[in-house]
Amino acid sequence: FVAMSSEVDKAQSAYKSKSTIFDKIISKEIPADIIFENEKCMAFNDVNPQAPVHFLVIPKKQIPMLDDASEGDQSILGELLLTAKTLAKQRCPDGYRLVINNGKQGCQSVYHLHIHIIGGRQLNWPPG
Ligand code: IMP
Repeated sequence: FVAMSSEVDKAQSAYKSKSTIFDKIISKEIPADIIFENEKCMAFNDVNPQAPVHFLVIPKKQIPMLDDASEGDQSILGELLLTAKTLAKQRCPDGYRLVINNGKQGCQSVYHLHIHIIGGRQLNWPPG
């Protein structure tokens, strides 16, 4: 057993479904450490942080993955990036990274579009 592969394992068995755990966070059916919310998007801390700062910014609209985003999603996509930037700048003044995992080989495990914001330590490049 290699602990590092568990995110990969999750991604291998994940699939698109009508709703995900993130819908339950949006509806407050399950708790999350919410750090920002407005009518279009939400940000909350990742339950399995990969760095001192690790939060997710998600649209309230159900967009399973970046592949599914369309022309009509332009403004929400922009809002997600700007929200991520505003929150990241406060929490990680010395720099940070945004990540969108898309699909199986991209290591996506939750099929509700989300931007990872990771920081609070020196990050390495390239990612695995
Ligand atoms: P993905 O691998 O890019 O799909 O990322 C999904 C992320 O969601 C992972 O980093 C998980 O740790 C995180 N996650 C899954 N369930 C929850 C939850 O209930 N609250 C907060 N984060 C979660």
